[in-house]
Amino acid sequence: MADERQMICDRCRRAVPISDMKYMPKGDGGRIGLCSACRAKFNPEEEIKKEAKKAIGSKKQYFCTRCRYKFTYDPKSITNLKCPYCGKEDHVIEHKMQSADKLLKNLTE
Ligand SMILES: [Zn+2]
Ligand SMILES: [Zn+2]
Repeated sequence: MADERQMICDRCRRAVPISDMKYMPKGDGGRIGLCSACRAKFNPEEEIKKEAKKAIGSKKQYFCTRCRYKFTYDPKSITNLKCPYCGKEDHVIEHKMQSADKLLKNLTE
């Protein structure tokens, strides 16, 4: 019986025989199931970059320390960078995951 089970490749979304699939570390702690064709051109760093891009696009994250409001803003935009909540720009900082978390902690303590 040629009744091999199939799996969906995480990259090309094709159903491939289970024997053709392998799990690869993604570099961010996660794993990704790839068929042999995708494995040949798989680059974990590239994959992470792609996902990060998908998440934020060309926009950057900013944070208003006055309102504690987090928002995204495209630096290439023609409008001025300001907090959409209070409309001021003097308390807006670029949001970086860790520093903002620390900041939030400081603010709430
Ligand atoms: Zn594939
Ligand atoms: Zn604000």
